[in-house]
Amino acid sequence: MHEHCGVIGIFSFKEEDIVPALITGLEALQHRGQESWGISVPNAPPFKRSGVISQSIDREIENISKLKGAVGIGHVRYSTTAKSTLKNAHPIKIGSSNDYGFCIAHNGTLERDLLAEYLREKEFSFSTGRTDTELMGLALYKNLKDGRNWVEAFRKINPYLNGSFSIVVLTNKNELIAARDERGFRPLCLGWHEEKSSYVIASESCALDAIGARFIRDVEPGEIIKIDKNGLTSERFSEEKRHAHCPFEYTYFANPSSRIEGINVYLARKNIGRILAEIYPLDGDIVIPVPDSARPAALGYSEKSGIPFEEGLMKDRYRKKGSWRSFIEPKKREKVVSNILAIKDVIEGRRIILIDDSIIRGTSSRIIIKKKLKSAKEVSFLITFPPVMYPCYAGIDFPTQRELLAYRVCKGIKNLDEINKRVAEHIGVSFLGYNSVEGLSRGIGLPLSELCLSCTTGDYSCMKRKPKFKTRKEMKK
Ligand code: SF4
Repeated sequence: MHEHCGVIGIFSFKEEDIVPALITGLEALQHRGQESWGISVPNAPPFKRSGVISQSIDREIENISKLKGAVGIGHVRYSTTAKSTLKNAHPIKIGSSNDYGFCIAHNGTLERDLLAEYLREKEFSFSTGRTDTELMGLALYKNLKDGRNWVEAFRKINPYLNGSFSIVVLTNKNELIAARDERGFRPLCLGWHEEKSSYVIASESCALDAIGARFIRDVEPGEIIKIDKNGLTSERFSEEKRHAHCPFEYTYFANPSSRIEGINVYLARKNIGRILAEIYPLDGDIVIPVPDSARPAALGYSEKSGIPFEEGLMKDRYRKKGSWRSFIEPKKREKVVSNILAIKDVIEGRRIILIDDSIIRGTSSRIIIKKKLKSAKEVSFLITFPPVMYPCYAGIDFPTQRELLAYRVCKGIKNLDEINKRVAEHIGVSFLGYNSVEGLSRGIGLPLSELCLSCTTGDYSCMKRKPKFKTRKEMKK
C-alpha cells in the first residue's frame, strides 16, 4: 500500500517566516503519515527526517531554525508505493535550480507504468526505480521546459495521471502551486490566515485550525491554484464531472474535526453508526468501539438503539507517543493491538456490540475478539465500511487482493448476508454485520455517484484504466 500522506503549503503576503506554521500544520496532519516528514522553503534543499515530528523536533531545533521563508511546503508520509526510506520522503526536488525546477509533495498514488510510458514517448530520459511522485514531477518538468505554463502542463499529462493526487509545489520562482486530481479521491482545502496575510493549502481543515487560519473552501477536483506575490489564481486542468471521493477518509483516515466536501468527519462517523443501528437492530447489553476511529460510530449506534455506550477497550497512551494506527503500520499491527487495554469490569459476562471502522486483513479484529474480549458473554461485530475485497490503487495501503480477509474467505460471493456469515465464523463472533454501500453513502451524506467504492465493488471505472493487480513487493520496489 502506498502514499497516504498529508500535505501543506503556505504563502505569506507579509513576507513573514512561515516555517513555524508549516510545522504546526504538519503536526496536525500527523495522523495521515508517520514514516517521515519534511519541509521545503526557498534557497535550501528539502529538510526531511524519519518518524513523527515530535520525535525529532527537539534535537533538530537548531537546524530547523536556519530554515526561513515566506513560502513553503510540507509533507508527512505513509508510503503506499515505494520503500519507506528517507530518500523517498517528500518534498522531492525535481529538475535543476533553473527557472523550471521545483519541490513537490504528494498525497495519493499514481500508476507508474503510464507515467513512464509518457516520458518514454517524449524521449525524456530518466533512471528506473522512480516513485510515482518523481515520475509525475518529471512529466510536469518536461512540459515546463518546453514552454508550457503549469495549467497547460497538467492538461498535457492528465491523460497519464491514473490514480489520485493532492499536491503542493514550491517553484524556483517562489510560487506556491496546489492541484487535486480530477476525481477528488484525496482531500485538499484552502484557507486564509488574516493576521499573517497568508494563504494555506492543506490536506485537511484540521491543519488550518491548528495554525489559526480560516477555512475558505475545498480545492475542487481538477483544479489548479497558483499563489504568488500578485495573489491567487485558479484554473481547471480537467472538466471531469464524475467525482470519486474516498469514503475511507470519512470512516477511518481523516481527523474527526476536519470538514471534507462540506461534511464534518466526526458527524459522518456518528451518522454511519446510526445507520448501522437501522440495518442491524441487535440485542445487546453495551456498545463499545474499537479505539479510536470507531468511537463516534459506536456513539451513533448507542443513541439510535438506546443500548448504553461504554469504553470497554482503551489505548494505553503511555507506551508510545503519537497516534497508533494499526492500518498504517502493517508490521506493527499485533503490537498496536497489544497496547489496547480491555476493561474487564465492563466486559465480563456482557453481550457486547463491538463497532470497528473496517476489516482489512482481519489480524487485529481476531486478536481483539479472542484475547481482549474473551470474558464477554457474546460479541456481535459491526463494521462501518463495507467488505473490502479488492485492492486500492488510489492512495490507501492495501494493494494486494490476497491479503484482504473478505476476499480470502468469500471469493466470488456477492450476497452481504453470506459474506457476514463467513467472516463472522472466521473472526470468531456470534454475529457480524458489514455496512452496505448505500448505508455508507447515506451515513456520509454524499451520493454513491460521488464516491469511489472500487475496493468493495471491484468497479474501477473511476480510474483511467483498470489497474493490473500487483503484489506488495511489486508496489514497494
Ligand atoms: S479503492 Fe477504497 S480505499 Fe481506495 S480510494 Fe477507493 S474507496 Fe478509498
